[in-house]
Amino acid sequence: MQVHISILAFLCTALLMTQACAEQTQTCPPGEGVALQVLGSGGPIADDGRASTAYLLWVDGKSRVLIDAGGGSFLRFGESQAAFSDLDFIGLSHFHTDHSADFPALLKSGVFSGRDRPLTVAGPGGGQRFPGLDKYLSSMLDSSDGAYAYLSGYLDGSGGLARIDSIEIAAQAASDENLLAKTSDDIAIYAMHVPHGIVPALAFRVEVRGKSFVFSSDQNASDDRFADFANGATVLIMHMPIPENAGEGARQLHAVPSRIAAVAAAADAESLLLSHFMARSLSNFEQNLALVRKAYAGELLVAEDLYCHTAD
Ligand SMILES: [Zn+2]
Repeated sequence: MQVHISILAFLCTALLMTQACAEQTQTCPPGEGVALQVLGSGGPIADDGRASTAYLLWVDGKSRVLIDAGGGSFLRFGESQAAFSDLDFIGLSHFHTDHSADFPALLKSGVFSGRDRPLTVAGPGGGQRFPGLDKYLSSMLDSSDGAYAYLSGYLDGSGGLARIDSIEIAAQAASDENLLAKTSDDIAIYAMHVPHGIVPALAFRVEVRGKSFVFSSDQNASDDRFADFANGATVLIMHMPIPENAGEGARQLHAVPSRIAAVAAAADAESLLLSHFMARSLSNFEQNLALVRKAYAGELLVAEDLYCHTAD
């Protein structure tokens, strides 16, 4: 935990980000209102002292929406006091381990939650070396040959488990912007395919009580339609795993800082939360942040694991 604190101190002093530092004092879960909590702010390499990607949306003290479940987020989920039984929706942006590896662990934990209502899970269709959501689920949960066949009740609701209602979004969907789910009260969720090398990947937009949270997922930000998808976001969460001088291979997967700033500016996002850091983007973080600040004039926030941002 000392490392965690020292990194935060470094960010606050070196960057004079008084607003971002002040935000760190907010606490989740909030008693009421809407809040975004970062469960994992790191990348796929175990060199950044962070859990891999996961984000939680709180509404009136309940953990309602989970976006991604990368390695390490299982621990953070428990630390955040989130409840599996309160989740209405889990969005898996793509099937890299740093976005999905702890998903089966969360399912196992959920066996003990007492949940009996279905759980909506959305993810991309397959492509090349990556499964679509339904294949991903069956490869783990199929009752005969799934890796975790003992959790197969999640596929059909047997054994007292909550049935997963899957929404697989094909890359060739008629519309690149899909309304996925709407809860009975106040949450609407949309998805859009985003370019992440050869990996089918989704961005999610969650709207609740007039606030909008847009999760960019990993992407190279080469599709200009994403700025429309993210238009007017209360908080736009974008990933900054690579520095400005990254090589072409990395740029096929991720956006460099100046591109992140251009997208956030085009989307006219109220706040931009930078996340998904890796050692290579943290090593010259001040410089990367300056590049973002240069082209984006809104509120700039920096993610840490368990960082909490209240939207009301
Ligand atoms: Zn990633």
